[in-house]
Amino acid sequence: MDSGDIMLRVMDRDRMIRVSIARTTALVEEARARQGTSPTATAALGRALTAAVMMGLDLKDDESITLRINGGGPLGTVLAVAESDGTVRGYVGNPAVDLPEKYRGKLDVGGAVGTDGFLEVIRDMRLRSPFIGRVPLQSGEIAEDLAYYFTLSEQIPSLVSLGVLIEPAGNVGGAGGLFVQAMPGADDELLRAVEERVLEAGPISNLVQGDLVELVERIMGDTPFDILDRKEVYFRCRCSLNKVESIVTALSDEDIQKALESQGRLEIHCNFCGEVYTFSEDETRLLREGADQE
Ligand SMILES: [Zn+2]
Repeated sequence: MDSGDIMLRVMDRDRMIRVSIARTTALVEEARARQGTSPTATAALGRALTAAVMMGLDLKDDESITLRINGGGPLGTVLAVAESDGTVRGYVGNPAVDLPEKYRGKLDVGGAVGTDGFLEVIRDMRLRSPFIGRVPLQSGEIAEDLAYYFTLSEQIPSLVSLGVLIEPAGNVGGAGGLFVQAMPGADDELLRAVEERVLEAGPISNLVQGDLVELVERIMGDTPFDILDRKEVYFRCRCSLNKVESIVTALSDEDIQKALESQGRLEIHCNFCGEVYTFSEDETRLLREGADQE
């Protein structure tokens, strides 16, 4: 099914500037609907999901990338995990937290995330040990923090724009992201011109609702470019009954007993997608007896 969410990566013919651009409206709305996030939490989560799925363009088969942001603010940890196939999932610690707007139409993501902490990027490369990069948070607004990360940790000077437009009813009206990244030896003049056109173009959540190739043409001006990647992107969780059953077998007797006594059943809630897996007392017992015999 085509959700309309897509990302593109282009590079100019002289290989000086790499531009990545994504429309993530449907996937951010799915995350919001599944987790019941407040407008401020939706904006923070949507920015992180968008950034992670875009960073996922660098992944090879079976690799994943995790973006983890914790600034000590009321939202708690903001986490997003992207796979190489263009899927992403994520959550915020306290989805109900909502702050007053900084000014009309401007959600206070920085205030909700906080700045007393770090942005971490964990690249899980399966066979090799994971690469972990971390930088102190600059503003908690996520885009600025990620630009700082790219520049400091990966030595790629970058302009990062991430945006989530929340409708008055609380749903997502538009979401997207844009990275402009300078390759080694990039021409300063060209870079400045591209950045200027990006800033002039307006909010990214609005821009990505149109045709993305046309948007790239507008940003690149008369500089010729090639499209390197084009990929549909989706919200998708990796949880399954099988995985949850193995959690049930690994829980302590005490935790199981507590849950069964208070609720008459065992409920396992997936943070990433909001799915609730329910096991009756009998099902729980059978699962755990089965595990004991192995
Ligand atoms: Zn899940």
